[in-house]
Amino acid sequence: MTDIFRLEDEYGPQMIVHIREPAVDLRAVVVVDNTAAGAAIGGARMAPDVSVEECFRLARAMTMKNAAAGLPHGGAKSVIFADPAMPLAKKEALIRAFASAIRDLADYIPGPDMGTDEKAMAWIKDEIGRAVGLPAVIGGIPLDEIGATGFGLVTAAEVAQEFCDVKLAGARFAVQGFGAVGKHVAQYLAERGAILVAASDSRGTIANPDGLDIEALIKLKAEGRPLTDYDGGQKLGRDDIIGVACDIWIPAARPDALREDNVGRLQARLVIQGANIPATSGAEKMMADRGILSVPDFIANAGGVICAAVEYRGGSASVAFDLIREKVSANTQQVLQEARDKGLLPREAAMRIATRRVREAMALRRWR
Ligand code: NAD
Repeated sequence: MTDIFRLEDEYGPQMIVHIREPAVDLRAVVVVDNTAAGAAIGGARMAPDVSVEECFRLARAMTMKNAAAGLPHGGAKSVIFADPAMPLAKKEALIRAFASAIRDLADYIPGPDMGTDEKAMAWIKDEIGRAVGLPAVIGGIPLDEIGATGFGLVTAAEVAQEFCDVKLAGARFAVQGFGAVGKHVAQYLAERGAILVAASDSRGTIANPDGLDIEALIKLKAEGRPLTDYDGGQKLGRDDIIGVACDIWIPAARPDALREDNVGRLQARLVIQGANIPATSGAEKMMADRGILSVPDFIANAGGVICAAVEYRGGSASVAFDLIREKVSANTQQVLQEARDKGLLPREAAMRIATRRVREAMALRRWR
């Protein structure tokens, strides 16, 4: 019985809710980690095999990401235990049943995550009146279409220039993963005079030290073709992108892309983390030892969650872009300055800032 409390520390979790509705085969867990700063925003994931522990870790990551972004929101996460590839009608029934079950959990605002999308968020909003990541027709801001996260990454890169010897104009950069985040960060960096010299997807890497045609690569991906179908470059293996000669390296694909066993191949001097947890802690330390500046994920890739918070308040895409610029810029500056002044890794400085904000908010509450 006491086992359920094993995840506790000073920040949370505030509650772990187990949901079951046999009529529609619904089994779900919601972890509301911390709501001191405000109602918790966090993805609703549909997957057959996520543990309560993992759900808690993802909820905690949202507490820290929202606090680091300076948003008046806490962190939460939910998991619906099911295969997202099920028939649409069954999925709708399941999602609607899930929404009904969390109706009174007013401190939790669900957003899209693995296995759920804007349509699922529309069903939840329809049932209980709250969700983020909605379709545009009911007030959503299509954050992947407008490139909110990519815009935040470039904002972070602009600030990071002041803390290393890389200047965006003329910098050569490589992007691992060419999806919603990767293609937009490539476009935004190119607008600032940087040159894309390598890009990868799950099937391989394409590289050219003289530059790649970003629009041609985007067109290939839109046609469902691999980047290696591009004619004007050298075709390399999927993970060869790590060793490509460049100034800025942007992970925008999977977790743990940079590890102790491969980070030594990195030639860049600046890493802007687009993917979530793209580097192991050992790799982060090795980068710092080699003088590679790495801006942590939950500082640099907060554009998406900032966009969701603006959407929740009925704001527009242009309001979201202004807020992303303001917040990501100020937070990157604060993290890199604190890291430099106190001799910390940027990730350690970011964690200190985020936990400080959570504690400040907690001090203002009666119960939590
Ligand atoms: P996406 O599914 O649109 O694109 C992912 C891309 O990565 C695809 O091009 C895929 O081919 C490629 N890929 C997959 N495995 C790969 C591998 N092993 N090596 C190289 N490329 C690989 O996803 P996305 O929305 O662009 O998200 C990318 C990352 O950024 C994820 O880690 C996600 O959690 C994180 N993130 C996304 C957002 C957002 O707003 N979409 C916000 C914050 C963080």
